[in-house]
Amino acid sequence: MTDFKKKKQYGQNFLTNPDIPRRIVAESGISENDGVIEIGPGFGILTRELSKVAKKVISVEIDSELIPILGENLKDCENVRIINNDILSVDVDALLKEEFADMDVCVCANLPYYITSEIVMKLLEGMHRFRSITVMVQKEVADRFCSKSGSENYSAVTASISYYATVKKLFTVKAGCFSPKPMVDSAVIRFDLHEKPPVSPVDTRMFFEVIRAAFGQRRKTLSNALFASFGDRLSKAEITAAIEECGLTADIRGEMLDINAFSLIADKMYIKIKK
Ligand code: SAM
Repeated sequence: MTDFKKKKQYGQNFLTNPDIPRRIVAESGISENDGVIEIGPGFGILTRELSKVAKKVISVEIDSELIPILGENLKDCENVRIINNDILSVDVDALLKEEFADMDVCVCANLPYYITSEIVMKLLEGMHRFRSITVMVQKEVADRFCSKSGSENYSAVTASISYYATVKKLFTVKAGCFSPKPMVDSAVIRFDLHEKPPVSPVDTRMFFEVIRAAFGQRRKTLSNALFASFGDRLSKAEITAAIEECGLTADIRGEMLDINAFSLIADKMYIKIKK
């Protein structure tokens, strides 16, 4: 292990304080009958704690140099299997079917920070049957994911996440708990997935397009921001009318709206496009 050179391009900031993985697992709510998917086991510090609590752990690690090290470090953990792959290429539905047919499944990870949003959105958009997703991310990302409409941190990702899950910040972790020490502190957050999305827009793709458009031009009013993306399908007057039909003023900004409002606006715009 001493020869191992940490790879910055894989976001390799390894936990060195053993209290942190213990606390992550304790606060994840994972129990003895659960299966766990871990992303990026690194040297296996969190994997070992997961192995003590869960029924089965499948850990996906991209760095092939870590595979023999993990084999050695976790040789006594019989309920752990390591897969050498990029999590973004993994067929999660197939993995759930093959490995966890008869179990509740949770995700738990100290995420590689360079692809935090991609991983989180892949896990949520797949609409898999995860009981919870507990991950460590950069503290400012945690604040963004947990923010509410109207706050400075609220973004398109935050609004989209609230369609799939509620997010809770569990605790913060100082940069000094990692090697190499990252530039910023981290935080552990937990996503509890909705059984059913809280809103039912007529066209889900359009609903997410409205959210992205509303935040695409942050300084613009909502009507201008939506016109910038939907101008090929709707006139400015039609967009303004759609917003006003929802009881809002067209000069409101997208960051003031929760997903209920986005769903209503998307439906009104959908009707006008289809007319
Ligand atoms: N779990 C370990 C810990 O807490 O010390 C390591 C966490 S480190 C922040 C992120 C880990 O994710 C590294 O082991 C890295 O090689 C791995 N990784 C990076 N990109 C990945 C990807 N696309 N798929 C799977 N693993 C990845």
